[in-house]
Amino acid sequence: MDLQLTEQRINELKSLLNQYGYEYYVLDKPTVPDLEYDRLMQELLKLEEKYPELKTSDSPSERVGGPILDLFEKVEHRTPMLSLGNAFNDGDLRDFDRRVRQAVGDTVSYVCELKIDGLAVSLRYENGLFLQGATRGDGTIGEDITANLKTIKSIPLRLRENVSIEVRGEAFMPKRSFEALNRVKEENGEEPFANPRNAAAGSLRQLDPKMAASRNLDVFLYGIGDIGGLGVTSHGEGLDYLDALGFKTNKERRKCSGIDDVIEYVNSWVEKRPHLPYEIDGIVIKVDSLEQQEQLGTTAKSPRWAIAYKFPAEEVVTTLLDIELSVGRTGVVTPTAILVPVKVAGTTVQRASLHNEDLIREKDLKIGDKVVIKKAGDIIPEVVNVLAEERTGTERDFYMPTHCPECESELVRLDGEVALRCINPKCPAQIREGLIHFVSRDAMNIEGLGERVISQLFTEKLIADVADLYKLTREQLLALERMGEKSVSNLLKAIEASKSNSLEKLLFGLGIRHVGAKAAKTLAQEFGSMDHLAAATKEQLISINEIGEKMADSIVTFFEQEEVSSLIKELSSYGVNMDYKGAKPVLAAESDSIFAGKTIVLTGKLEKLSRNEAKEKIEALGGNVAGSVSKKTHLVIAGEEAGSKLSKAQELGIEVWDEEKLLVELNK
Ligand code: NAD
Repeated sequence: MDLQLTEQRINELKSLLNQYGYEYYVLDKPTVPDLEYDRLMQELLKLEEKYPELKTSDSPSERVGGPILDLFEKVEHRTPMLSLGNAFNDGDLRDFDRRVRQAVGDTVSYVCELKIDGLAVSLRYENGLFLQGATRGDGTIGEDITANLKTIKSIPLRLRENVSIEVRGEAFMPKRSFEALNRVKEENGEEPFANPRNAAAGSLRQLDPKMAASRNLDVFLYGIGDIGGLGVTSHGEGLDYLDALGFKTNKERRKCSGIDDVIEYVNSWVEKRPHLPYEIDGIVIKVDSLEQQEQLGTTAKSPRWAIAYKFPAEEVVTTLLDIELSVGRTGVVTPTAILVPVKVAGTTVQRASLHNEDLIREKDLKIGDKVVIKKAGDIIPEVVNVLAEERTGTERDFYMPTHCPECESELVRLDGEVALRCINPKCPAQIREGLIHFVSRDAMNIEGLGERVISQLFTEKLIADVADLYKLTREQLLALERMGEKSVSNLLKAIEASKSNSLEKLLFGLGIRHVGAKAAKTLAQEFGSMDHLAAATKEQLISINEIGEKMADSIVTFFEQEEVSSLIKELSSYGVNMDYKGAKPVLAAESDSIFAGKTIVLTGKLEKLSRNEAKEKIEALGGNVAGSVSKKTHLVIAGEEAGSKLSKAQELGIEVWDEEKLLVELNK
């Protein structure tokens, strides 16, 4: 390539990377997959290495992160928060190891940690008290997001020692919360987040702490700003010290004695990665000895003593057979891609949500196209792009209908929404979806009433609203397809049992706009009964932590509707419970239960209780349920097929109970 062409390509790469970086760091809305960004960055780095005379100081290869939002106060980091160099294969890891050994000699140990896919945060404590939290920003200056960070329960507000310290970690959104959030966003006609990383960043980089609180964020700490003054000699000891101070660190870390060990650890996570409850995008490898770290030093952008191995994203090609439409509970019409079944990251994919018409246009999708599929954040299948060059001319354009595919009323696009909506409150699809939601696990949890049975009951006109479920008779149910004596008895029992659910399940089941399962629980706890909640004013609602203006408006409007009050009266007349039954959260100090103040880990399959039920009961008695076993764990409850957590507990000599024993103690 001649110099002029190279310069042209470098400029092209710089402008693309700046654009993608802006979308990713500032807007929290990437438009290309991370791997595409990484690929372009590698190309730029190679060209700049080969032609140093073409490298400029404003090159994206020289920068950490992106611009800082004016929304927030600025925070200057006392020690810069750097980025990490990348490795994409074993060869890159061995090169890194070679560079390290050249600088510090052959005796090197590494600490490997999961690379959590969230956003880096810095937390500053003075005399043991949490003072300030910030984003990484451009590495030197970050954004003050203290109020939002305070809503993350795993960030201690007071440490176990009165030290002044600045710690670093990754704030993230667990996969379950991400899926639930995107479901709600879609139901509300809003654009979903591209991945959990952007969802976490979007939640922390906005001004409403209530919004942040509702997002179920979490954090893992992985470093100390100025580790030099603490008297520890290695990174591993630093992490143990974070544990001792009461911080949450990730327990999957491993000390490795050489690069072969590192590569084995990295490869072991390729398989295990999909089973984690949070997203990781790689493994971070750090030289353990602080003395060696110092010898190695840093470049302007990243330390020479660490590297991030990035997992390859599995992308596969398949064919878009059709685009199907479905009408959700809130009337949003969602197009779904029907694909020739194909395996991606361990599961077979044959459908992928296309979210809305804008996205179909943006990606220029035509029915019959060859398309690239991947799992977004390795969870939700996503159509990445079209292979337009493989078109044969037989592909067809797709247009969203003007009328609801279920009830034929005209579809509308509400102000500010990307989605098309059916606003007919009598639309059968919306009613059916509302019924399916009402019986679902986090709502009234009526087992045996799946989508199929609800659809049959609905088509046979045996149910038109949720109250009708409580009028169903044995004869009516027996007349349905594939319903025998036994399943009918079980179903009737499950319907009966649902009447005594605690209020939050009913509240969530009623499908009030913007009220998710977590908010329903808060409302039930705060108001205690349906009557009190129905009478609540907007001001009373907003005064509750976690309830924002939008949700408060929606709750007030919901209870103002006459149909709602008569539905609630009717449900109550059938014996459906309208009160909160859970205990008010108990402070460990106030409880004399055996669980009070203890850290307990649940593992394996429980038979009689769901994990959530067990967790709730333990927490109601003042216990604290943690996700992983460590020296700080007091007790492990092991169900069927308990695996590594049980072995770890045995290794550490921690007390282990079976479910029987748990039930006995819970019922004391
Ligand atoms: P990085 O993501 O490659 O690595 C550095 C970050 O890793 C740290 O700042 C920290 O936040 C995180 N991390 C997670 N676990 C860690 C641990 N245990 N120890 C230390 N750090 C840990 O670098 P970056 O500068 O944050 O971001 C660059 C990456 O962002 C790119 O490689 C690309 O994948 C992505 N990106 C994508 C786009 C896009 O348009 N899709 C645009 C810009 C950047």
